[in-house]
Amino acid sequence: MAPGTVIIGASHAGIQCAATLRSKGYEAPITVISAETQLPYHRPPLSKGYMTGETSPENLALRSADFYTTERIDLRLGKKAARILRDKHQVVLSTGEKVDYKTLVLATGTRPRPWPGNDMPHGIHTLRTFNDAQSLRTRIAETSGPVVIIGGGYVGLELAATFRKDKQRDVTVIEAAPRILARAASSHLSNVLHHHHLSAGVQIHTGTGVTGFESHRGTVTGVRLTNGTVLDAAIVVMGIGVIPNQDLAEEAGLPCSNGIEVNAYCQTTDPDIFAIGDCSVFLMNGAALRLECVQNAHDQARVAASVITGEHQSYHPVPWFWSDQLGLKLQTAGLIPHSGTCVLRGNTEEGRCAFFHFDTLSTLTAIETVNQPALHMLARKILAANVSPTHEQAADPLFNLKHLL
Ligand SMILES: Cc1cc2nc3c(=O)[nH]c(=O)nc-3n(C[C@H](O)[C@H](O)[C@H](O)COP(=O)(O)OP(=O)(O)OC[C@H]3O[C@@H](n4cnc5c(N)ncnc54)[C@H](O)[C@@H]3O)c2cc1C
Repeated sequence: MAPGTVIIGASHAGIQCAATLRSKGYEAPITVISAETQLPYHRPPLSKGYMTGETSPENLALRSADFYTTERIDLRLGKKAARILRDKHQVVLSTGEKVDYKTLVLATGTRPRPWPGNDMPHGIHTLRTFNDAQSLRTRIAETSGPVVIIGGGYVGLELAATFRKDKQRDVTVIEAAPRILARAASSHLSNVLHHHHLSAGVQIHTGTGVTGFESHRGTVTGVRLTNGTVLDAAIVVMGIGVIPNQDLAEEAGLPCSNGIEVNAYCQTTDPDIFAIGDCSVFLMNGAALRLECVQNAHDQARVAASVITGEHQSYHPVPWFWSDQLGLKLQTAGLIPHSGTCVLRGNTEEGRCAFFHFDTLSTLTAIETVNQPALHMLARKILAANVSPTHEQAADPLFNLKHLL
């Protein structure tokens, strides 16, 4: 049979692309190559329900095993793509096996940023994969000792929230930047969350770096901070960000810069090769953007599938993201401007509020909500429709924002 689409990476982006291709009537072969051995799974619960035990491994699956058979998707688990031979339209697996493609989709995601030092005793974890979550869960069950989380981003804070739930465990978050969530949220939202974590007993050190680790017989016992303090630690989790898996693309001569560069159709400079999800970087309003969220993985997958099936839909996202921490549902729609005005709707003390972000031209660019899921859904519609309330309308909880649509 003539070659069809080969997708490298079987996670949110890769599986959505395969599913959309079939739903659009694509009949050619689809092969999905996955370095991981598990049936493709939801990643967000790894730091939430799966870590607390509320979500079972079976409930993590993106699709049932039957789905791949029914949809004629050749899912090759535990296989790593090692090279792309663009001139031959082939992918070479680490086993030496070659897979022909007509169209190639790179959905290779990201991996945890490695610790820059060499002193890495046992007991230091990262969290990206099911196997990472499994080993962290096992270690947590083995010890009641203190946990130190390096990095106050979403994943680090979700873990802090999860580990602090039973109130027994000593949990500390170390953040080198002056505030938590410096990269992912406004200072207003990070302030709300900071105080919420403190009131739950999580200790947070901002503006503080880590210089190394203390260990006993090769196992971590402490974390050395830049201010000279040594924190006791039975478990350390490293959440210092991720780096895109772009090596395959780079070696194949495709332009990469903090991600595999793609156009509005998710195509690389080779029109037969697409890149989607966390591994891809694209231009939005003239700025390079690499999003790390499920929405982007799914939407880019749908765009790539539409182009492969000849529809040529382009990508104009309203990015959105969610996080659950210590009883707070945090949801962000849109992109927070570098400068502009932030308008508060509601009361931060009541645990239900929203921050409306306007750029310097008073155009609404993002809404961050706390425990307001209905407002978040509306925010996505308002941003997609490109309409802006006035600052007064945004601040007034009695003003019905639906009137703007
Ligand atoms: C703990 C955690 C919590 C999160 N919580 C949220 C959340 O609440 N909300 C949200 O929107 N997002 C969340 N995210 C982010 C979200 O999971 C990612 O945006 C999403 O997984 C991106 O999907 P992807 O398919 O692009 O890449 P990935 O999920 O990274 O998958 C890429 C896959 O490609 C495979 N691969 C890479 N190279 C090769 C190769 N050479 N050969 C074969 N296979 C290869 C990898 O092994 C991996 O399985 C969270 C992430 C983590 C880790």
